Amino acid sequence: MKQPDEIFSIVTALKDEYPEGICSLQYDKDYELLFATRLAAQCTDERVNQVTPALFARFPSLDALAEAEVSEVEQYIHSCGFFRTKAKDIVAASQMLLSEFEGRVPHTMEELLRLPGVGRKTANLILGDIYHVPGVVIVDTHCIRICALLGLTDGTKDPGKAETQLRAILPAEESNDFCHRLVLHGRAVCRARRPDCDNCTLRPHCDFFQREHSQDDS
Ligand code: SF4
Repeated sequence: MKQPDEIFSIVTALKDEYPEGICSLQYDKDYELLFATRLAAQCTDERVNQVTPALFARFPSLDALAEAEVSEVEQYIHSCGFFRTKAKDIVAASQMLLSEFEGRVPHTMEELLRLPGVGRKTANLILGDIYHVPGVVIVDTHCIRICALLGLTDGTKDPGKAETQLRAILPAEESNDFCHRLVLHGRAVCRARRPDCDNCTLRPHCDFFQREHSQDDS
């Protein structure tokens, strides 16, 4: 169990390493982040950033997306995987945003979860990045893996449990950016197949590294 001063050290070290704790998905409008996040499920942010400019140029408003043929949306997002479901969700969510939310992306978890294709990860990202709600935790594969290695969670792979455990210990004003920094760290250093512990700023605080290191010494 990490003590508050060590949690603070981890948060600070990542902040120093990645001063810009921002989402790597590109967007101009709030709903574009919502749909980019939907497209990012089982896909890379890089790939999503390649397809969204053409998608949002062809359908430049919520009205245009709400009236779009799902089959045409599919053509723009084909390379993102699960394109049929994602296209259906984007069109249906656009229609719901217009009919029930006056064309705005809602600002509560409860309302966000009503939108087709929106789960807690997407909802938390919207709450944190668009509405700057404190205390949100965006749980993705990087977050689950690195927090387990560090010892910030009990090693759970369940996103809901990881979210609950991290919400309880992370400083509310830092948690959103911290999650974005975990993604950057997961890509650059703590990679899934081969974590580069020798060059990791979190090494002094990492349970995994300490365990491995103590075995080396024994
Ligand atoms: S020390 Fe190694 S395992 Fe721990 S967070 Fe850093 S790269 Fe990942």
